[in-house]
Formats: sequence, structure tokens, C-alpha cells
Amino acid sequence: MAYDFDLYVIGAGSGGVRSARFAAGFGAKVAVAESRYLGGTCVNVGCVPKKLLVYGAHFAEDFEQSAGFGWTLGEADFDWTTLIANKDREINRLNGIYRNLLVNSGVTLHEGHAKLIDPHQVEINGQRYSAKHILIATGGWPQIPDIPGREHAISSNEAFFLKELPKRILVVGGGYIAVEFAGIFHGLGADTKLLYRGELFLRGFDGAVRKHLQEELTKRGLDLQFNADIERIEKQADGSLKVTLKDGRELATDCVFYATGRRPMLDNLGLENTGVKLDKRGFIEVDEQYQSAEPSILAIGDVIGRVQLTPVALAEGMAVARRLFKPEQYRPVDYNMIPTAVFSLPNIGTVGLTEEQAREAGHMVQIFESRFRPMKLTLTECQERTLMKLVVDAGTDKVLGCHMVGPDAGEIVQGLAIALKAGATKRDFDETIGVHPTAAEEFVTMRTPVAG
Ligand code: FAD
Ligand code: NDP
Repeated sequence: MAYDFDLYVIGAGSGGVRSARFAAGFGAKVAVAESRYLGGTCVNVGCVPKKLLVYGAHFAEDFEQSAGFGWTLGEADFDWTTLIANKDREINRLNGIYRNLLVNSGVTLHEGHAKLIDPHQVEINGQRYSAKHILIATGGWPQIPDIPGREHAISSNEAFFLKELPKRILVVGGGYIAVEFAGIFHGLGADTKLLYRGELFLRGFDGAVRKHLQEELTKRGLDLQFNADIERIEKQADGSLKVTLKDGRELATDCVFYATGRRPMLDNLGLENTGVKLDKRGFIEVDEQYQSAEPSILAIGDVIGRVQLTPVALAEGMAVARRLFKPEQYRPVDYNMIPTAVFSLPNIGTVGLTEEQAREAGHMVQIFESRFRPMKLTLTECQERTLMKLVVDAGTDKVLGCHMVGPDAGEIVQGLAIALKAGATKRDFDETIGVHPTAAEEFVTMRTPVAG
């Protein structure tokens, strides 16, 4: 049967755009549908605007620390409206770049909400199109628990477009988004509290990293409230919010920001018209080649709920394009040693196993740790300390994990990820000459294990 397209991609986010462009480059006839914004979450309400706000927040400490280097500045003043307007301009520019990338690579762009009609047909803006393969790359959406007053809370989607910087804000959650945004709001001058339901935030990260970040954020005056969960939110006559915690405490604030995970975006997608199945958590179930239970339909990225990171969605998108249209170049995505950063202030950078994971997996481990005051701070009052940690297999000498809390941790860990991917041993680290004077050189100068 002749189809309108070889591949119809639903969602022009990180994974969808990558897959569409590569498939078109391999000679396939490709269309992509986008209902909201070109570039998806990452470009519009994720990685990119988030990082711009993190840069914005960082200036507060730069101004303070400059005094130690002889600078005298007038009183610093921050204008949220300017930051948001400039951020929006940059995002508009990126949207245009994404449009050109798609059009120039020969992909047909359909702007509107796409719905599956059957395993080979999509409806958009009242038109139906058939395709041999359909790729669902619809991403995720913030999930706010169903508590009384949830309508008064915002998510990351709204945080990027607030009309003004709240004077007081409660950030709820203990994952990437909560920790990053608590740092942003605190850095920009809002009276910020982070509320997390468990003992210690960032579950799944190395224990030393979690503790170290807790100490550093507390030193900076960020109010961390652990074992705290909201029971209800009530709007007051003056527009402020009264928040009642499950332990009975009451807090007054101007904004409650939930960052409690993301659900797959499946709204009105028409999955019921196909044989696509969901897994236990509600994400689209796919096999190792991203094929769903419906043979003509594939899915990648946040909507499959494996690793919700842009570079992973990109890799999955590329893998699908290659498998379908350039099988001789197909390589499966390797989910081991995925480096990641939390853009808190200071940053976390991590790759490989945590100490806890290594021990649980049965490795006899040697732990190397270094804690130091970064050189830049020696002329300042700032008492921030950097943490670096290596988890090494005592038997094979292989470095199983690298973890860091400190300035530029994300940048540093990207390079280390290549070494770990290549199977580097501790001896390889030791024999590598450092770059002096840097913080990163600590990773090749740690000699004595702190624990075995
Ligand atoms: P998305 O990028 O979400 O794209 C899905 C697209 O599909 C969207 O544009 C949506 O509008 C469209 N769509 C949905 N349904 C339909 C439909 N029916 N018809 C047509 N179009 C549809 N990751 C990192 O690696 N680093 C970071 O620093 C980082 N920071 C983040 C910060 C925040 C606040 C958030 C929320 C996420 C962050 N992420 C980060 C995660 C990253 O953004 C996602 O993992 C990534 O965007 C997933 O890509 P995707 O292609 O699966 O989906
Ligand atoms: P995460 O899954 O990272 O964290 C969710 C947090 O919310 C956890 O601390 C969780 O607690 C808590 N939580 C979940 N449900 C509830 C509830 N009902 N009540 C109270 N607390 C709850 O999700 P995020 O929303 O922070 O981010 C989504 C994903 O986006 C991330 O996992 C990451 O993959 C990606 N991302 C990546 C970034 C980066 O690369 N720098 C930045 C931002 C996002 P508990 O641990 O107890 O379950």
C-alpha cells in the first residue's frame, strides 16, 4: 500500500526533531506534527531557559565575591521582567532555528494537535495522513498531586513566565527541578523554602553528594525542610497563600511551585485506536528497538519514561531513524554511564555508579574523596567547599563512578564520562597529568582511599 509518508513523527521536541531530520537525511519521506512549540520541552520550558535563569541567579554571588578582588560595586538591583523578556527573545530565536532545521532537511511540518486514527493514520487540523511508521515523541507534562488547593500551585511550565519574582516561594519536591529552581529563586532574591517529603533530597544520587549539597545550600541560607509535605493550600484575602503541612504546621507564602515529577503526554492522542500498550507507570511500553505493541508505531523520549534527559531522547531518535532507514549504521543506545548534571548552585555532576549502587551490585569498592575550598574563593569570605568522589572497583581497578559538587561540575563530568565509557582504571586517572591550577585536576590527584 502507498502511504503519504514513510515516517510520521508526533512531537517536534528533542527526540522527534532528531529522528525526523535524520530519517529525511537518509532519504525517507517524513512529516512531523507539533502542537505547542518547536524544540519541545528542552528549548521552551526546560533545559535552555532553566540554564539561562541559573546564569542569572549566579550573578548575586559573583557581585559579592568580587569585593575580595578589589571591586566596589553600587547596590545591585535585579529586574525579573528584563530577564524573562531577554530569555523569551532567545527562545524565539531558537524556535526559528528549529523550524529552519526541519524545513531545510526536507521534513514536512504540520503545526497542530495530532491524533492517531488507526495504526497507520494520523489526523491533524482536520486532515488525515497515512504513514508506514508512526513515531510518538510527545514528551511529558508536570504532575501535581491532587491536594486541596492544587489550583493555586504552579509548575515549571508557569515558572518561566511569572509576571514578577515572588517575594516568598515554596518549592515542593526533591528532584532535579525542585533543587534547580530553589537555587534560581533563592539566588534572585526570593525568600525560598524547599519542601521535600523524605529524609534527604535527590534520591538515587550518591549519598555523599546529597549530604554535601544539603550543607552547601544551607550555608547559603536556602531553607531546606525535609520530611515535610503539603496537606492543603488556601488563598487568603490579600492574595497570599496559606499552606498547611501534614504535620499541622502553617506557612505563609506568595507562590507554591510543585516539581514532583512528570507524566507522559498522551492527552487526546488516540492511543485507544491502536494496539499501543502502557507500562505499569503509565508510560508507553516499547521493546529495545522502541517498537510499541502496535508494530507500525514506535515511541521515544520522555513518553517512554526510561531516562528523562534530552541527550537520551536525541540518541533514541537517532537510533530509530537509523534502524528504519539506514540499518547498516544502526547501533543500540547504551544506557550505561549516562552523565548528568543538576544545575543547582553549586552544580552536581555525576557519571557511573554511586557508592551505594556499587556496593549493592556486589563490587568491593575503594572510595576516593576530596573536599576543598575552590581557589577562586580564597580571596573572598565565601566558605563554599567542593566535593569530588571516585568509586573504584578494588579488584579490577576500574573507575565505576565519578561524582562532584562544585562550580562547573557538569562541564567537568562530561570529559570524565568519556574516560569511564572507555573503561578507565584508577591507574589511568593517576597517570594522567593534571591541568594546573584547576579544580578538575583533583580528579587525577586523589591517592589515598577514604574507605574500602
Ligand atoms: P519533548 O521535548 O517534551 O517534546 C515533545 C513535543 O511533543 C512537545 O513539543 C509537545 O508540544 C509535542 N506534542 C505532545 N503531544 C502532541 C500531539 N498530540 N500532537 C502534536 N505535538 C504534540 N534534560 C537535560 O538533559 N538537561 C537539563 O538541564 C534539563 N532540564 C530540564 C528542566 C525542566 C524544567 C524540565 C521540565 C525538563 C528538563 N530536562 C532536562 C528534560 C528534557 O527537557 C526532556 O528529557 C526532553 O525534552 C525530552 O524530549 P522528548 O523529545 O521526549 O519530549
Ligand atoms: P524527579 O523525578 O527528578 O523528582 C520528583 C521529586 O518529587 C522527587 O523528589 C519525589 O520524591 C517527589 N515527589 C513525587 N511525587 C510526590 C508527591 N506526590 N508528593 C511530594 N513529593 C513528590 O522529577 P522532576 O519533576 O524534578 O524532573 C523530571 C525529570 O526531568 C527528571 O527526573 C530529569 O530526568 C529531568 N530533568 C533533568 C534536568 C537536568 O538534567 N539537569 C533538570 C530538570 C529535569 P521521592 O524521591 O521521595 O519519590
